[in-house]
Amino acid sequence: MTLAQVEEVVVPRMCVEEVQAHMREVGRAGHEGLGLWVGHQDGERFTVAQAVIPAQRHIRTRDGVCVVVGPEELHRLNVWLFRQGLTLFAQIHSHPGRAYHSGTDDENAVATATGCLSLVVPDFAARPFVVETTAVYRLDPKGRWREVPPFRARSLIRIAG
Ligand SMILES: [Zn+2]
Repeated sequence: MTLAQVEEVVVPRMCVEEVQAHMREVGRAGHEGLGLWVGHQDGERFTVAQAVIPAQRHIRTRDGVCVVVGPEELHRLNVWLFRQGLTLFAQIHSHPGRAYHSGTDDENAVATATGCLSLVVPDFAARPFVVETTAVYRLDPKGRWREVPPFRARSLIRIAG
């Protein structure tokens, strides 16, 4: 069973709001924010159990601003996930403007399992989260982030509650 089999991810509204609130808050200081959705896979369905806001650094690169999770925090996160029996399915981060997966995003992804998702939210998450304005990418078996077409993203991500 791999994450690539997942056809539907059910996300409690609370988990969406938690990440959105974090991104909006750091966005006020001009920083990108990052959050994670973790939970359980049951065949073609993944149910998000909680949102996680990992320790993160906000850096400036020649391309602009960027959010990075350091190696120690990644290790801590992986140990915690293992002990809790939870799986990381999606990472969500904000951009100052347009939502797309940059080269830096490809290189610094926290979610690294085939079939997992990376969501990019535009405009520092200033507006309420909707799948329609979010850029959704999925990691293919060759390790490439492929954009999920909007119509597919809408059926893939179901916000509950
Ligand atoms: Zn980015």
